[in-house]
Amino acid sequence: MTCPTCNSVAFLETLECVQCLTPLGFHRESTSMLAVGRDGVVHEGRTWIACSNRAWRCNWLLPDDEESARCAACRLIRKQPDADDTMA
Ligand SMILES: [Zn+2]
Ligand SMILES: [Zn+2]
Repeated sequence: MTCPTCNSVAFLETLECVQCLTPLGFHRESTSMLAVGRDGVVHEGRTWIACSNRAWRCNWLLPDDEESARCAACRLIRKQPDADDTMA
């Protein structure tokens, strides 16, 4: 994946671009990084906001009309706290 601002390589867990410091969010549907501001980012007609777990290094985006403030990955982890999930 690459930074949408400067095109440098962005890793999956990257919260901001190491080159240009653009805040990045992971857009799962397109498997790409979007530059996400404080009010989110508009992509393909929808507004995407950063997961409320961003402070804990989650950089996923979710639609702002979603009922939860957490992304699908964080909800999954929360639902199964005792699972020995090696992805976590
Ligand atoms: Zn960049
Ligand atoms: Zn999350």
